[in-house]
Amino acid sequence: MKNYSSLIEIQKDIREEKISCRNLVRDYLDKISKNEHLNAFIEVYTEEALSQALIIDHKFKNKDAGLLAGLVIGIKDNICYQNHTSSAASKILEDFQSNYSSTVVERLLAEDAIIIGRLNCDEFAMGSSNQNSIFGPVKNPINCDYVPGGSSGGSAAAVRANLCHVALGSDTGGSIRQPAAFCGVMGLKPTYGLVSRHGLIAYASSFDQIGPICKSADDIRLVTHVISGIDNFDTTCIGKKTPLDINKKFSPKSFAVIQDTLEFSGINKGVSKEFNKLIEHLTDQGHTVKYIKLPLLEYLVPTYYILTTAEASSNLSRYDGIKYGLQVSGKDIESLVTNTRTLGFGKEVKRRILLGNFVLSQGYYDEYYQKAQRIRRLIQDKTKDILAENDFILLPTSPNLPFKLGNKEASPTQSYDEDIFTVHANLTGHPAISFPLGEVDNGFYASAQIIGDYFSESDLIQITKQITL
Ligand code: GLN
Repeated sequence: MKNYSSLIEIQKDIREEKISCRNLVRDYLDKISKNEHLNAFIEVYTEEALSQALIIDHKFKNKDAGLLAGLVIGIKDNICYQNHTSSAASKILEDFQSNYSSTVVERLLAEDAIIIGRLNCDEFAMGSSNQNSIFGPVKNPINCDYVPGGSSGGSAAAVRANLCHVALGSDTGGSIRQPAAFCGVMGLKPTYGLVSRHGLIAYASSFDQIGPICKSADDIRLVTHVISGIDNFDTTCIGKKTPLDINKKFSPKSFAVIQDTLEFSGINKGVSKEFNKLIEHLTDQGHTVKYIKLPLLEYLVPTYYILTTAEASSNLSRYDGIKYGLQVSGKDIESLVTNTRTLGFGKEVKRRILLGNFVLSQGYYDEYYQKAQRIRRLIQDKTKDILAENDFILLPTSPNLPFKLGNKEASPTQSYDEDIFTVHANLTGHPAISFPLGEVDNGFYASAQIIGDYFSESDLIQITKQITL
């Protein structure tokens, strides 16, 4: 079977009876079993996907197939699917079966997508390299000695290796965009409030968003259209559906490049080179590019980690061995809870729960948590100002290329620093899209991201399509 770059091509071939959904699914299943060494899938829904494919083939024949008919999709293991296990790659939820589906899953199924399995990730989506999973690390399909990025490492690796056509990930501080960049594919972190978080296992609720990892801007557009829009189950979900129709003529745009990101000491030379080529390309296309300063750059990572660990410590308090998942017995209630949490959580998750409780505790609350909230507001205000004068903000997705498996485990803060370019859009809630630029080293790509105004996904997708053509 050919490697399709967009769902539109797949649907065309199905309509012309060159392929069937059933054969398509068989082909993905075959590739999944040949690529088990990547460790991208935690579970594959073989029988279900095959029988669903038969139903969709009939729908094609009856001409009543949904918008996503022919789409074979994988979902990150923190997105709940009724009567299926969702573990967030954690021991504490290893056997947890959800009794309802997340809104995104409901919407995918309503448009005839075929869910082929659940994908590996960092435990509770905490990490940047997919090395914090109880199911073991995911390998980068470009070179198996390297990490695929994280926390949606399984999602990005699966799309890159053609184990499914599209995958859903979640992005709290870059977990869609950075693994997409490490695996040379595209990813969108929607505006906070565009996609419902109902049924997403929470990490940091004021940051978390679900979004697609794809190989083309057209697929990002289709999937975002389907999963977006108001949902009564999530009161923070206020955005209208992202429109499908974006074929309007596009006038030249103004881009603000954050100069501080290019001057950042840890940036890889190949990344800067490819990024500068993109700037030339944009000016050649008639767009304007302006260099601006963001003096708050050095505060992004600390602010992000103070606020997300605070939210995580509260969100993860529900895993007490009584209401959900794993239960380890103890002589009384207190020791039951202690034993369950001691055995159930991994090292990184425990570190963040401790840090979160610390910044929220009496005496430190003002000094850390409240100060970080104020800085978050300053970053938001500054970003709004930039976007009032420019159409988009342009910056690299990650300062570096993928590193070798096993590296950076020794120093968590070194790993946190790698999130410097992605956490910006989560702190402010703006949408950001990441797409690959040229190949730099060892087959790995540099990637860029564009941040746009709130709910401007349609423009982001359109400009990305124009740039990547
Ligand atoms: N690397 C970041 C973290 O560990 C981002 C994670 C995410 O977006 N889920 O918090």
